[in-house]
Order: sequence, then structure tokens, then C-alpha cells
Amino acid sequence: MTQPRARADAGRAAASRTAGEPRREQVEKFDLIVLGAGPAGIEAALTARSLGMRVLIIDEAPQAGGQYYRAPNLAVQDMPSTPEKREGDRLRMRLAEADVQTWFNHRIWSIEPSYRVACATGIHNRLAEAPAMIIATGVVEKVRPVPGWTQPGVMGLAAAAIMVKSYKVVPGKRVLLTGSGPLLYDVATKICAAGGDIAAVVDAVPLSTWMQQTTRLARKPKLLAKGLGWMAYLRARGVKIYRGHALCEVLGSGEADGALIRKVDADWYPVEGQEPIQIDCDTVCYGYGLQPGLDMSRLLGAEHVYKRSRGGWTLKTDRFLRTSLRKVYAAGDVAGAFGIDLAGMRGRLAAYTAAMDGRFIEPKRFRLEAKPLKDALPHSASFGRAVNRLSMPRRGLVAFITPETTICRCESITRSKLEMAIQQGAHSLTTLRSATRCGMGPCGGRYCLSAASTILREELEIDFGDIGIVKGRSPMRPVHIRTFTQDFAYSDLPQRKPPPL
Ligand SMILES: Cc1cc2nc3c(=O)[nH]c(=O)nc-3n(C[C@H](O)[C@H](O)[C@H](O)COP(=O)(O)OP(=O)(O)OC[C@H]3O[C@@H](n4cnc5c(N)ncnc54)[C@H](O)[C@@H]3O)c2cc1C
Repeated sequence: MTQPRARADAGRAAASRTAGEPRREQVEKFDLIVLGAGPAGIEAALTARSLGMRVLIIDEAPQAGGQYYRAPNLAVQDMPSTPEKREGDRLRMRLAEADVQTWFNHRIWSIEPSYRVACATGIHNRLAEAPAMIIATGVVEKVRPVPGWTQPGVMGLAAAAIMVKSYKVVPGKRVLLTGSGPLLYDVATKICAAGGDIAAVVDAVPLSTWMQQTTRLARKPKLLAKGLGWMAYLRARGVKIYRGHALCEVLGSGEADGALIRKVDADWYPVEGQEPIQIDCDTVCYGYGLQPGLDMSRLLGAEHVYKRSRGGWTLKTDRFLRTSLRKVYAAGDVAGAFGIDLAGMRGRLAAYTAAMDGRFIEPKRFRLEAKPLKDALPHSASFGRAVNRLSMPRRGLVAFITPETTICRCESITRSKLEMAIQQGAHSLTTLRSATRCGMGPCGGRYCLSAASTILREELEIDFGDIGIVKGRSPMRPVHIRTFTQDFAYSDLPQRKPPPL
């Protein structure tokens, strides 16, 4: 609905401009902008609206739902009705019925310090501004490079889940699933249930570590039962599960054609004297847990902290989800990858805090309605913490990264190039990025910079917390060049008269 109007507006603006006059884009104003329409963002938007704020919620996906409640693609017929889909539909319905402005298919590519948010929709740019923002942009996957990982046929677990959930497509003919944590079994079950052929499930976490976390996991018996159910489902279908093994190489020349796995110790270093095991597959889906996606907060210059139990680097917030930036709040996994159970609750709490700080509600109401949410968070977070402890990639994976292994696929940077730069004095992630261009490609470092940190950690023997993270840059995501230039023509440039001869 909005795109043709935006196009017509752009056309009218161009027609009314004279050559040399700068293009002025309309900025739409709100009381609050919610970045990301997953469960955290949806609950934040609905709560803020119910408290009297004029709210805009933005997401690059065509529909609300985020990772877990991702809506099936509208073109795909006969999607099975799962509990996730039903709950996602309920959330989408509530959002559709509320008086909340929604911008879907809008990719946020820049945010100015004045909280002016720039979104690309197709080739068009759209601007919104508000005195307050809630960041609810969720998580990204942790992948660790191994030889051959950049070949077609290798993908993250989340990407595989999206293929099945949104498009009813299994990722390959014979699929190896590997990594760590419950996500591995969740995605394997989904692929198996969709008719996929699973070559094996390879879990780097040994059974003893799983057992150590059982007490914490048992605090959410339903979720624990769900996880055990996935494992039982796979076993019942004869899927081979290797525990305490890790992916060490993807075979193939030009596309994935088999993989090698190795037995690993408690720190995930390969066990000496154990030969690699070859797995026959044409697709490898892998990932080592989830980490908060910090594009927006890095760009805005918010403070971050490193916490293993939260998935790694995360936004620093107070107990009411205020970030270090004035009137910027964090909701959901961006403030610690704690899972679906907490996402909505943290969305509601962030909205209450934003409404109180913006004087939309009295402190008395805030205490009455927001405090119970805040008090419930620490208890509910213990399950997420246990999952993060299980999933967190251990040190030993670095042993599988050979000198020739590509770390930054956008800029083709290998481990040896990084090591050379470190030896020449690039001792922080920022200097390493400047020295090598690692993380300067279209992905903006979302995938490679955490792997580059592991190389820095190895070389300098320092902790992740001391390595730090890099400042974000705009555009945060790839956008079409016409998003910037729009209807610009060279004739728009002011022309100097040639000097008289
Ligand atoms: C494959 C997979 C399986 C999972 N399974 C489970 C499970 O079984 N149990 C569990 O508890 N948790 C699970 N999780 C985690 C769960 O998805 C999250 O806890 C939950 O979705 C967090 O909600 P959120 O609203 O914080 O973020 P999300 O649901 O991730 O939503 C973030 C939204 O922000 C949008 N966004 C991000 N960047 C931009 C941008 N630049 N422009 C526009 N939009 C943007 C995204 O499109 C997305 O819709 C799983 C995650 C994945 C990836």
C-alpha cells in the first residue's frame, strides 16, 4: 500500500524541484519507534500504544513475527499448523487490530543521532523520527569458519529453519546438522519432519556438559521436555547423533560434498590420535548458538558489555531496560539471548519504561504494572543462561581454522592475513578491521568479526571482554544505490558558468 504512494510522492517532489535545489525527504513523526517486529517488538509496540504513545514498528520482513514466529511465505500453500504458527498468527492479528503504524518490508539502514531512522523499501528511502526508540532486533547466529565453509551448500541453522518454516523447503538432499545447543536439535527435527534426509547430527557438547546444566534447564520443565522430545524424535527415526564431536572441514570443490568431523575434548580441541570421520552429505547446516544483533546500538554508540551467559557482547541496560543512550531502550534478545519465553515480557517492560520517561504514565502506574515484569525477569532468564552456557563456542574450535581458511567471506580475508596484521600491531578489533578490511563488506562484520575476535584472543592471549567491539557504520545493511540517489540526475548538480574567454 505504502510503496506506490511513496513513488508518487517522489515523482511529485522531483517535478516541483528546480535544478540545483536539494532534495527534501518527508520525515514522519511518532512518539516512539520500535525497531524490529519479533515477539519483543510486537509486545513493546502494543503496550506503548495502549499507554497512549503514537507508535511506529519497523521490520524488513514482509510480516511481523521475528525469528521464532516467522510467518510462512504467502505464496506457499498448505503450511502445517504448528503451535508456533498459531501463536505467531495471534500476535500478527493483535498487531493488525491495534492502532500502530507498521512498516514491513522496510530495511533499517541508518539511524542518525537525532533518532531519525532511514529505511530502504525496494529502491525507496523512508524516514521516521521520534524522541524515543526501542531496539528489538533480536539475534544473529554464531558461526566459526572451517576449511570449505564458504561453499554453496553450507548455511547457518537459522537459515535452514527459515527455509523450512517460511518456504516449506528442506535445505538439501542429505543434510548434516552440526554445532551446539538446543537449536541444533530443533532445526534437525524440523527438517526431518518436513521429509528431509538427515546424514547426522553432530553436537560439540559432550553428554556430561548437558547433564551439568540439567538442574537449570529443569526450571522450565515444559521447555526441557520440548528439547528432550526433539532428541527422542530423531533417535526414533534412526538419526545418528554424535556428541562431543565438531565439524572440522567441509569437503567439495565448488560446492559442499561431504564433511569431516572430529572427536573433541571439553574445550572442543580435537582429541589427539582420533581420526576424522567422513560424513556423506551435500548440505551442511551449522551454528554455535545465538548472539545479540548489535548493528543499531553499535551505530548509535551505546555502551555494551560482554557476558557469556547472555550470548556474548550485549547491550548494557539498567533493570528497566534503559540503555546508556537517552530514551533508547532494549527489548528481547538484543539485551541478552534468553529466548522466546522472555522476549514478550521484555518488550512490555521496555514500553512501560519508555512511557514513564516520556511522561505518558504516572510513576505510580509504572510501579504497579511494570515492577512485576521487572521482578519476574531474573527467574525466567535462568533457562536462557543455561542454553547460552551450553551453546557458547569453546576455545578449541580455533584449531580447525587453517592459515588458508577464509574468515571474512565478503572481503576474502584469511586467517593468515589476520595473523600477519596482528603481528604488525593491529591489537584491537578496530585496528584489525582497518588494517585488513575484515568486516567491511556487505555483512558489516555480523558474521566474521566474532571469528576474528577468536584469532585475536589466540594471538594475544586476552579475553573477549578486553578485545571489545567495533563501532557501527552506515549503511548497516546493503541497500540499493538508488535508495540514496533516488531521482537524482546529473542535471540536478549546480552548474558554474564557464569563465569568459
Ligand atoms: C532458528 C531459530 C530457532 C529458535 N528456536 C527457539 C526455541 O525453540 N525456543 C526459544 O526460546 N527460542 C528460540 N529461538 C530464539 C528466538 O527466536 C528468540 O528468542 C526470539 O525470536 C527473540 O525475539 P525478539 O523479538 O527479541 O527478536 P526476533 O524474533 O529475532 O525479531 C527481530 C526482528 O528484527 C528484525 N530486524 C533485524 N534487523 C533489522 C533491520 N536492519 N531492519 C529491519 N528489521 C530488522 C528482524 O527481521 C526480526 O523480525 C530460535 C531462534 C532461531 C534463529
